[in-house]
Amino acid sequence: MIPFIDIQAINRRFEESFKNEFQDFLDSGYYILGNQVSAFESRFADYCETQYCIGVGNGLDALRLILEGYKVLGKLQLGDEVIVASNTYIATIIAIRQAGLKPVLVEVENQTFNFDISALKQAISPSTRVIMPVHLYGQIAPMEQINSLAVDNDLLIIEDAAQAHGATHTNGKRAGNLGHAAGFSFYPTKNLGALGDAGAVTTNDTNLANAIKKLRNYGSSSKYVNELLGVNSRLDEIQASFLSVKLPFLDKDNQARRDIANAYLEGICNPKVVLPCYDGSKNHVFHLFVVQVASREHFQDYLKDKAIATLIHYPIPPHQQKALQDLKNLRFEVSQALHQQVISLPISPVMTQLQIEKVINAVNAY
Ligand SMILES: *Cc1c(COP(=O)(O)O)cnc(C)c1O
Repeated sequence: MIPFIDIQAINRRFEESFKNEFQDFLDSGYYILGNQVSAFESRFADYCETQYCIGVGNGLDALRLILEGYKVLGKLQLGDEVIVASNTYIATIIAIRQAGLKPVLVEVENQTFNFDISALKQAISPSTRVIMPVHLYGQIAPMEQINSLAVDNDLLIIEDAAQAHGATHTNGKRAGNLGHAAGFSFYPTKNLGALGDAGAVTTNDTNLANAIKKLRNYGSSSKYVNELLGVNSRLDEIQASFLSVKLPFLDKDNQARRDIANAYLEGICNPKVVLPCYDGSKNHVFHLFVVQVASREHFQDYLKDKAIATLIHYPIPPHQQKALQDLKNLRFEVSQALHQQVISLPISPVMTQLQIEKVINAVNAY
């Protein structure tokens, strides 16, 4: 069986280093917010070329704490509107809701899986304060247009970079440094994945960074002095040390993903399978390789018979989820069609040439 992603093989490459890190961690006696967290924060900030990185518990909290941080700074108020793509993973929308803000969902393009810019423009109202681009599947959102809309309307840009670690925009800046702040997830299967839950915020905004540093730790910057009603969402010390081991290999792993994507794009030729758009640049890190097939379930069963695992990202649009029942009357033609047709082929930095060829041949023979 070709697995969708072989997470054991990905991490086995670092086994010796992980074991050493664990021994050091055990010996150190610092299990929460110790040197490993601050070391990783400074490494990841350097990597993204941002001034700050704040480690938090997971990607959802990263996004939520950015919004909470801006509330503390008086830049956002309860009920302000946040514009977000209607095909994102539901976490983006949960973060907005949990912060007491109003998610305004918009239609997407079926070429890039990202904002339909004219729909985005139309969604801007006097209550809009934030545009939240999601670099879905690892491809950077159309930041030029988003930036100019944000400047014209005095809006904050908060990136959901949970699928785009290392993606580099044409201007040379990396995901995480393309707006006012960005949320990252280091969920194990992400391009940079921990061995458990982990997340981070990146920003160049000193006030926001200070607010989030407090918010993640009970609103406190010195022990037993609480300035804000914060939460407990700290990047775990041992996860930070594992992430520091893996970070130097991120660019190489992303290139391996792009190489596989290029092999798929060149090798797959089947009118029943619509390939993703890719301009060949480093603006895509192929967290996922998502194709569109009209009879998706049939295709998925077919590949399963050929011992190829696939996944669907995502089968149900957020506005049709039970958890967001109040949004159920919304209609997004393109986004809804995508949710019925998308299917993700295996892609990961440890795939072998033979596996890649098997996938290509099986898809072509469908
Ligand atoms: C993974 C993911 C998140 C949430 O990250 P967690 O660490 O699982 O909380 C948010 N947004 C997107 C687009 C994601 O893919």
